[in-house]
Amino acid sequence: MESSPEAHALAILKNVWGYDAFRGQQLQIVAHVGAGGNAFVLMPTGGGKSLCYQVPGLMREGLCVVISPLIALMLDQVEALQARGIAAALLNSTLSDSDAATIEQQARDGTLKFLYLAPERLLTLKTIALLRECHIGLFAVDEAHCISQWGHDFRPEYRRLMLIREQWPEVPRIALTASADAPSRADIVRTLDLEQARLFLGSFDRTNIFYKVVPKHDAERQLLDYVAEHAHECGVVYAVSRAKVEALATLLRRHGYNTSIYHAGLSDADRSKNQREFLASKRMVMCATIAFGMGIDKPDVRFVAHVDLPRSMEGYYQETGRGGRDGERAEAWLCYSPGDRYRLRKMILASDSSPPRQRMELFKLDALLGYCESAVCRHQTLVGWFDEAHPGSCGMCDNCVPERTSNLPMNTVPNGHRAAQMALSAAWRLRNAECTHQALLDTLMGRVTDPVWCRDADSLAVFGKGQRMGLRGWQGVLRQLYGLGYLQLDPHQVSALRVSDKAMRALQQREILPITLPAPWAAEPENLPMP
Ligand code: ADP
Ligand code: ZN
Repeated sequence: MESSPEAHALAILKNVWGYDAFRGQQLQIVAHVGAGGNAFVLMPTGGGKSLCYQVPGLMREGLCVVISPLIALMLDQVEALQARGIAAALLNSTLSDSDAATIEQQARDGTLKFLYLAPERLLTLKTIALLRECHIGLFAVDEAHCISQWGHDFRPEYRRLMLIREQWPEVPRIALTASADAPSRADIVRTLDLEQARLFLGSFDRTNIFYKVVPKHDAERQLLDYVAEHAHECGVVYAVSRAKVEALATLLRRHGYNTSIYHAGLSDADRSKNQREFLASKRMVMCATIAFGMGIDKPDVRFVAHVDLPRSMEGYYQETGRGGRDGERAEAWLCYSPGDRYRLRKMILASDSSPPRQRMELFKLDALLGYCESAVCRHQTLVGWFDEAHPGSCGMCDNCVPERTSNLPMNTVPNGHRAAQMALSAAWRLRNAECTHQALLDTLMGRVTDPVWCRDADSLAVFGKGQRMGLRGWQGVLRQLYGLGYLQLDPHQVSALRVSDKAMRALQQREILPITLPAPWAAEPENLPMP
């Protein structure tokens, strides 16, 4: 008798892994893919993505080809599968010719079940020829956000994975990632031709992390005070540069903390030694740049502190997500200033990225700053960035549980509703021009800096209507509109802004837009050209 895909999947889960039940959406995903469907899975780290392709890989006849960017992660997976008695292997350049030949033969004759490949390996003519001779049952693209040039971890080889659907259109595909915003998602869907695929969106809410944001006055003093509250715990302190990481580690050490460092300037040996020590420690502060993270899974990280503004909401979410893996309470503490934005902005503008990419990076930076400046529930804002609905009032963020000592320029009554409406209206009217941050600011302020779009903007009803609020006021309002998802990057023209569906709904239903007018504190230097 034919069993249902669900029953088949459950039997494999029990027999091979010894687990009793699937978690969250795993069952729907594996049943769908096991039956030959295409899928796009967005699930936070630790959510259990591996099973989502490994179980269908076993349900289906033929070889399951897994694409993943990091050798270390692939080795872990291969070992874990082998430990469960499953024929799995990794093909990479460190193998001897004879070992590689053995694996290739097993792939051809069907005795191998899982073949892990880095994208650059898959794309070689030799591998493509090999795969043509194999019976392939499933392609799994792990860390699929690497496909998108709009994401934080773009790998050019990933883009060429469109080869999979060109060469093997009939083989089901599953793409998995823990982080992709709307433009990146659109990129992934296009590259892997997943338009018809089912989207599985897991919950991104990390309910055990308390989110806290403070304005920066004296970062070192503030950090010392903060770390003192966590003196007997493990935590990570992220800073923007190697020099700053070193300086903070010295400072903390001088104050008696057990401290380690991690950044790309250290030798491989030192990095892995420091990482091992941190993983084993019960009481240590790791001072690091964002080089520290991928693949780190320490359960008892009790705080993640940022002494500088990160570059994007995805990055911030990923970095803070390293806290509280054990499910116990952890804290995310972010100390920021307008000067941080100024410095990052300068770095973005000085980079050799294309102007559209620079605009996209500035948008992401501003959205994160908008998150900092907003009085809306932090959990709601963070998961909202991944299109997840959240009721707010989480009880686990500084905006929902204000501390008496907080000196945040906080405003629980959203006093920026009118301004937000005006900005959205301007964005709507600019929809047929290229609505950029600059174009919006100029429209609201009645400035003519770019003759191309100003020809149209001049005639707009809103042109110059916002002069009284001033440039800094508008910047704060726009940033919050970005951060809260009322204005988004247009997925088809990524450097342009569009009024989001969420904003359209809010306007139609006459909701009060929860925007806070920026406090005078938020003044910033503004003498850099716009890209
Ligand atoms: P991700 O790749 O999404 O970060 P993993 O696939 O590594 O997550 O899974 C995280 C952990 O959860 C692993 O130790 C895995 O064995 C465990 N896990 C996943 N699904 C289940 C399940 N249904 N039952 C029990 N444990 C599970
Ligand atoms: Zn909250």
